[in-house]
Amino acid sequence: MNPSRPPLVAGNWKMHPASVELAVSLAVNVRDAVAGLAARSVVCPPTIWLSTVAAAIGGGSTEPGRLAIGAQTVHAEEAGPYTGETSPLMVAEVAQYVILGHSERRQNDNETDAAVATKVASAVVHRLVPIAAIGERADERRAGLTATVIERQLRAAISRLPRIAGSGLVVAYEPVWAIGTGDAASGEDAQAAAAQIRSILAESDPGGAAEVAILYGGSCTPDNAAEFFAEPDVDGALVGGASLDAASFAQIVQLAVEARG
Ligand code: PEP
Repeated sequence: MNPSRPPLVAGNWKMHPASVELAVSLAVNVRDAVAGLAARSVVCPPTIWLSTVAAAIGGGSTEPGRLAIGAQTVHAEEAGPYTGETSPLMVAEVAQYVILGHSERRQNDNETDAAVATKVASAVVHRLVPIAAIGERADERRAGLTATVIERQLRAAISRLPRIAGSGLVVAYEPVWAIGTGDAASGEDAQAAAAQIRSILAESDPGGAAEVAILYGGSCTPDNAAEFFAEPDVDGALVGGASLDAASFAQIVQLAVEARG
């Protein structure tokens, strides 16, 4: 972890927990557990609970030591005939971050590289910090295509951003084979991907590339997080399963703070 970039740990709750009461209590417990820790912490509840959870924690904040709210996706357009979708204007009223291009949306909802590009640009316009998720599938890894996939998805994700500097862009490297499997990547793999990501970003904007938080995601837990955070280009984590337990999530945030030194 590079001391010049504040750590960032984001929890992707996916379609959990089972009720709004549980969501509120999880968020309040996370808020209290991360209070004052010198890291940016974010929880990303299901869309339907964004407002309730934001209100319960007293409104999200991007300040280190406070808890921010993120959405798990958003539509690119502000309004229109898009049944079931949520506009970035609506999300920006209650959230500060948005995960875009998560592999589950790429796989289950046919979210393409082009769609991710449009959404990333739209998020920035609407003052939402985009957490652009990229990463290779197991078959792509076996075929030796990890770097190729990372490059393709990253170049697409930033293709509609006028500039990296000041955009707030966050990139999450999430190898698909590591998500929800308990089979996390190694620190070395995460660093190789993060260094590749930063060097692609630096081609067009070296200053901007140095600002971007690059996260590792995929079965990250309190037991393995320190291995990722020890790497110079890994600035935090995107956490699924372990983010549903306030103590585990806060422990990961604490490890990120300690790694920054
Ligand atoms: C995720 O879905 O973004 C994720 C990293 O999940 P998990 O931590 O459960 O692997």
